[in-house]
Amino acid sequence: MPETPRMLWHYTCDHGAAGIQREGIIRPNLHPLLGVPVAWFTDLDPAHRFEIGLTSDRLACDRMAHRFATADRLVWWPLAARSLRVPAPVRAELETGRLPAHWWVSLTEVAITGGGDG
Ligand SMILES: [Zn+2]
Repeated sequence: MPETPRMLWHYTCDHGAAGIQREGIIRPNLHPLLGVPVAWFTDLDPAHRFEIGLTSDRLACDRMAHRFATADRLVWWPLAARSLRVPAPVRAELETGRLPAHWWVSLTEVAITGGGDG
Protein backbone atom coordinates (compact mmCIF):
# COMPACT_ATOMS: atom_id res chain seq x y z
CA MET A 1 0.00 0.00 0.00
CA PRO A 2 1.46 3.39 -0.91
CA GLU A 3 1.91 6.02 1.73
CA THR A 4 -1.01 8.43 1.73
CA PRO A 5 0.06 11.58 -0.14
CA ARG A 6 0.19 14.75 1.90
CA MET A 7 -2.35 16.40 -0.42
CA LEU A 8 -5.40 14.73 -1.87
CA TRP A 9 -7.88 16.45 -4.14
CA HIS A 10 -11.63 16.15 -4.60
CA TYR A 11 -12.77 17.30 -8.03
CA THR A 12 -16.29 18.48 -8.68
CA CYS A 13 -18.54 20.48 -11.01
CA ASP A 14 -20.06 23.93 -10.41
CA HIS A 15 -23.09 22.36 -8.71
CA GLY A 16 -21.03 20.28 -6.29
CA ALA A 17 -18.65 23.13 -5.53
CA ALA A 18 -21.36 25.50 -4.31
CA GLY A 19 -22.38 23.28 -1.41
CA ILE A 20 -18.80 22.42 -0.49
CA GLN A 21 -17.80 26.09 -0.39
CA ARG A 22 -20.85 26.91 1.74
CA GLU A 23 -20.39 24.10 4.26
CA GLY A 24 -16.63 23.58 4.25
CA ILE A 25 -17.12 19.84 4.00
CA ILE A 26 -17.37 17.25 1.27
CA ARG A 27 -20.33 14.94 1.70
CA PRO A 28 -20.23 11.46 0.20
CA ASN A 29 -22.72 10.90 -2.62
CA LEU A 30 -24.58 7.65 -3.18
CA HIS A 31 -22.64 5.77 -5.83
CA PRO A 32 -24.96 3.95 -8.24
CA LEU A 33 -22.62 0.99 -8.76
CA LEU A 34 -21.34 0.69 -5.20
CA GLY A 35 -24.66 1.20 -3.42
CA VAL A 36 -23.08 3.30 -0.66
CA PRO A 37 -22.28 7.01 -0.36
CA VAL A 38 -18.68 7.68 -1.37
CA ALA A 39 -16.52 10.79 -1.67
CA TRP A 40 -13.64 10.39 -4.13
CA PHE A 41 -10.14 11.85 -3.91
CA THR A 42 -6.93 11.59 -5.90
CA ASP A 43 -3.36 12.78 -5.84
CA LEU A 44 -3.43 13.30 -9.61
CA ASP A 45 -3.53 16.73 -11.21
CA PRO A 46 -6.20 17.87 -13.69
CA ALA A 47 -4.13 16.68 -16.66
CA HIS A 48 -5.18 13.15 -15.70
CA ARG A 49 -8.91 13.46 -16.27
CA PHE A 50 -9.33 10.02 -17.78
CA GLU A 51 -7.06 8.24 -15.30
CA ILE A 52 -8.96 9.80 -12.40
CA GLY A 53 -12.23 8.64 -13.96
CA LEU A 54 -13.82 12.06 -14.33
CA THR A 55 -14.69 12.04 -17.98
CA SER A 56 -18.16 13.50 -18.33
CA ASP A 57 -19.63 10.93 -20.66
CA ARG A 58 -22.82 10.58 -18.65
CA LEU A 59 -23.22 14.10 -17.34
CA ALA A 60 -23.27 17.50 -19.00
CA CYS A 61 -21.24 18.94 -16.11
CA ASP A 62 -17.49 19.48 -16.15
CA ARG A 63 -16.64 17.29 -13.20
CA MET A 64 -13.20 18.90 -12.89
CA ALA A 65 -14.33 22.53 -12.82
CA HIS A 66 -13.25 22.83 -9.18
CA ARG A 67 -10.99 20.97 -6.82
CA PHE A 68 -10.75 20.96 -3.05
CA ALA A 69 -7.91 19.82 -0.84
CA THR A 70 -8.17 17.86 2.37
CA ALA A 71 -5.72 16.76 5.02
CA ASP A 72 -8.12 14.17 6.45
CA ARG A 73 -6.99 10.57 6.45
CA LEU A 74 -8.77 8.68 3.72
CA VAL A 75 -8.96 5.05 2.63
CA TRP A 76 -6.93 3.86 -0.35
CA TRP A 77 -9.44 2.73 -2.96
CA PRO A 78 -8.04 -0.79 -3.53
CA LEU A 79 -8.40 -1.48 0.21
CA ALA A 80 -11.84 0.12 0.37
CA ALA A 81 -12.99 -1.92 -2.61
CA ARG A 82 -11.90 -5.07 -0.84
CA SER A 83 -13.56 -4.22 2.47
CA LEU A 84 -16.75 -3.14 0.67
CA ARG A 85 -16.64 -6.44 -1.26
CA VAL A 86 -17.08 -4.62 -4.55
CA PRO A 87 -17.79 -7.27 -7.20
CA ALA A 88 -15.11 -7.79 -9.83
CA PRO A 89 -17.30 -6.63 -12.75
CA VAL A 90 -18.04 -3.37 -10.92
CA ARG A 91 -14.36 -2.83 -10.19
CA ALA A 92 -13.61 -3.50 -13.84
CA GLU A 93 -16.18 -0.95 -14.96
CA LEU A 94 -14.77 1.70 -12.64
CA GLU A 95 -11.08 0.93 -13.03
CA THR A 96 -10.32 -0.43 -16.49
CA GLY A 97 -7.76 1.73 -18.27
CA ARG A 98 -7.60 4.19 -15.35
CA LEU A 99 -5.26 4.58 -12.37
CA PRO A 100 -7.20 3.28 -9.35
CA ALA A 101 -4.02 3.13 -7.26
CA HIS A 102 -4.29 6.94 -7.28
CA TRP A 103 -7.80 6.94 -5.80
CA TRP A 104 -8.79 7.41 -2.17
CA VAL A 105 -12.28 7.42 -0.71
CA SER A 106 -14.22 8.46 2.34
CA LEU A 107 -17.59 7.09 3.38
CA THR A 108 -18.04 9.96 5.82
CA GLU A 109 -17.88 13.75 5.63
CA VAL A 110 -14.47 15.22 4.88
CA ALA A 111 -13.27 18.67 5.96
CA ILE A 112 -11.68 20.78 3.24
CA THR A 113 -8.47 22.66 3.82
CA GLY A 114 -8.37 24.70 0.65
CA GLY A 115 -9.09 24.94 -3.03
CA GLY A 116 -12.34 25.61 -4.80
CA ASP A 117 -11.03 27.21 -7.96
CA GLY A 118 -10.54 25.32 -11.16
ZN1 LIG B 1 -22.97 19.68 -11.96
